[in-house]
Amino acid sequence: MIPHSVTLPKKLPLVIVSDGVLLPGSTIRIPVSTVKNINLVRSRLTTGNRLRNTIIGIVTKETSKESHLGSLHEIGTAALVVQVTGTNWPRPSYTLLVTGMCRFKLLSIIQEHPYPVGAVMQIDYNKSLMSDDSDMQLKSLVGEFKEAAKMMIDLLDVSVPAVAKLKDLVEQVSSQQLTDLIASFVRATLPEKLQVLDAVDLATRLKVTFPLLLRHIQKLKEDKETGDTGSRKDLKIVKMTRGGRGLSRDADSYEDDPNEIAELEAKIREANLPEHALKTAMKELGRLKQMAPHMPESSMTRNYLDLIVELPWSVSVKDTCNISKARADLDADHYGLEKVKRRILEYLAVRQLRGDLKGPILCFVGPPGVGKTSIVKSIAVTLGRPYYRMSLGGVSDQHDIRGHRRTYIGSMPGRVIQGLRSVKVNNPVMLLDEIDKLGTGIHGDPGAALLEVLDPEQNSNFTDTYLNLPFDLSQVLFVATANALSTIPSPLMDRMEVIHVPGYTQDEKVMIGTLHLLPKQLEEHGLSPDILQMPQEIISTIIGEYTREAGVRALERKIGAICRAVAVQVAETKCDDTGTKTDSDVIVAEVDDDQMHKAEGSQKEDSTLEKEDSSHPVPEGSPALPNLAQLKEHMELPIIVDLKMIHDILGPPIFQSGLTGRVSVPGVAVGLAWTPVGGEVMVVEATSSAGDSNLTLTGQLGSVMQESAKIALSWVRQHAELLRIDKDFLKDEEIHMHFPAGAISKDGPSAGVTIITVLVSLLTKRCVRSDVAMTGEITLNGVVLPVGGIKEKLLAAHRAGLTTVIIPAANKKDLGDIPNSVLNDIEVVLVNTVEEVLQAAFDDGFGDMFETDNGKSVSPSSKL
Ligand code: ADP
Repeated sequence: MIPHSVTLPKKLPLVIVSDGVLLPGSTIRIPVSTVKNINLVRSRLTTGNRLRNTIIGIVTKETSKESHLGSLHEIGTAALVVQVTGTNWPRPSYTLLVTGMCRFKLLSIIQEHPYPVGAVMQIDYNKSLMSDDSDMQLKSLVGEFKEAAKMMIDLLDVSVPAVAKLKDLVEQVSSQQLTDLIASFVRATLPEKLQVLDAVDLATRLKVTFPLLLRHIQKLKEDKETGDTGSRKDLKIVKMTRGGRGLSRDADSYEDDPNEIAELEAKIREANLPEHALKTAMKELGRLKQMAPHMPESSMTRNYLDLIVELPWSVSVKDTCNISKARADLDADHYGLEKVKRRILEYLAVRQLRGDLKGPILCFVGPPGVGKTSIVKSIAVTLGRPYYRMSLGGVSDQHDIRGHRRTYIGSMPGRVIQGLRSVKVNNPVMLLDEIDKLGTGIHGDPGAALLEVLDPEQNSNFTDTYLNLPFDLSQVLFVATANALSTIPSPLMDRMEVIHVPGYTQDEKVMIGTLHLLPKQLEEHGLSPDILQMPQEIISTIIGEYTREAGVRALERKIGAICRAVAVQVAETKCDDTGTKTDSDVIVAEVDDDQMHKAEGSQKEDSTLEKEDSSHPVPEGSPALPNLAQLKEHMELPIIVDLKMIHDILGPPIFQSGLTGRVSVPGVAVGLAWTPVGGEVMVVEATSSAGDSNLTLTGQLGSVMQESAKIALSWVRQHAELLRIDKDFLKDEEIHMHFPAGAISKDGPSAGVTIITVLVSLLTKRCVRSDVAMTGEITLNGVVLPVGGIKEKLLAAHRAGLTTVIIPAANKKDLGDIPNSVLNDIEVVLVNTVEEVLQAAFDDGFGDMFETDNGKSVSPSSKL
């Protein structure tokens, strides 16, 4: 019950309702679904623990009225929010349980966004505002009112606890509260309730409420006489009044459609659901029919039923796979990638012959921008299936995959079921993007959930926690992508067949730029080769001076930037009626009829820019282009991009090619590293200074790297005499070795040969050849072991302009993957031992320093 005296703040956040009135003393539910009301709930009521103390104003909106407050009723009710329930999916919707405290006068709206706030003045239930009950006439009227109220209660079923409670309340509350309590209880129209709200002083309120009470009593009596005991109805009324009654909708939201349930039922019957789903849907529909429409459970059940109806239980597309078409499709979209394409074709052929999808999931692994995603899109096109991309980067909650239990507020199905709902067929190509970036958090392991999705033994009965019905995923073609293998959970790895997509060589990038990226960007910017051309040397310069990547994503962006600049230049070349050219005006404003016709789509309305002129798409923000013939009269076409133009548009070169200068002191060597984003050239440096015999390593190194450094040091100590290094070199000298790019943590054994070379260079005070890079693991005995990522490393060395690369002899087999264009430029030295590394890394090697037992000096095993 409301306190006898309340003092309101001067400002209140307002919830605006369209078809109800809250009176002080009564409790109602208010559904909230308009943006402003949702903003209010989110910022005031669902954050922190101030819920119980939160007072809001409930104001009724009257469509027929206009005043200085718009259509808002001048008098409102301050309410205490008792409970907030709701769901966020598929659209946010909350229900507030509020108890009316006192009336206020709405003076003005002082804030509209993100939710309205009103300046208010309290007008009742405050000691200073309480009217004095000493008026005898009023006292007797109150007595009569109380008697009538009791009579009404007697006509109700007192065995209902809420009715019994009401009976007690009538005795306990003040006359002010009694009138509000009864007025909120009896049936009345909206204007009648507003009249009660407007009746601030007791006498007026009694005058307004008494007739409503008498009418209600009359109605109850009539019901009794006609045999309709009214008990059910009244019970319902009582229930509603004592905590359950809701205003049907808040202002501006859609009206309740009485046929909604019937429509839902028809949809369920037409959806061709499997038996188990139909049974559940009908059961839920039965429950829905019993629920009051404004209850949160009702909207949750509706959402659930909508999902069941919209899921493609038995809808699939027919595969259009035909191997020669597949070959043509893959070739049309992608340059090179021969091995990858061959493997995809084999996979598709086997699948076609077997007629099912059982078998490993393909997983494309490689640096960003090498076309992994676009290959999967091409597979979908080839198969004629819809494509759905599920990004797994950062997913650390198993519920993201498996869905949330339906009892949980804001619950929703998992990504897989959501994906199927959006593609509307049960056999799409589903890309599990960045599967190596799955996390594990406190909410279970998403990897385990994914395992269930991918396992052919289990996935024909995949049960999403939200849907709670088995759904057959066996027809979905799952394909995954990843940057690195090491972070993919091993049970998932077991299900997958890895296809490496390595980085591209300079030549491959030039070809991809010319054949694919440029045409794509020209089209996206509404240009054509008649307007803009980019010679291969220019693309090559862009790659060398503006990108450092294994893939072609930055290249695509740079080409896009040039196209954009040219599109603006062309569009700004104004062609007026007399044919004279002026540069400064923007063509969109003044194109002639002919051009107007062509650029019609973009002239009409900004928002329809792309849709209207799809044959000639104009990217957002780009002006429309005049036609070619007219352009040719005013400017020299095609524009051929030259060096000056790329420097003007892209700015000064970002990267210098080569490592000039950096390797010209002792104690520096170039190593090759593999990273998830491709191969990297790493200049390793070492210096020595007086100190205690210590080796300090910096640059965020993992434990394997630290161990490699120790092995290298031991080897150097062991061979100090041969190398003519002072054996006590560590006694009073401290060596500091640094691996640059400290922000990136590095680990792995392949830096072993580089570390030894750097140490030998430092201690013998000889410079390492500046055109040599190396990779290889070492053992204590100086044996060089094979390492991974040879292709990426060689490509990185090639990009950096290095001409000799030392690799373990056991990696010879990997050279088959390297394009001839790279092998022609690089001399690959195959080595078995550290001695061979040193012979190749230093100019003139170490002469006959490393003599073998049979008297021959060691030289690298072979050169290619
Ligand atoms: P990833 O998924 O590996 O990060 P994307 O598939 O997003 O890379 O590719 C980036 C861009 O490069 C896309 O526009 C793609 O079409 C293009 N691309 C990459 N490799 C090739 C290729 N071999 N031939 C043609 N275009 C390519």
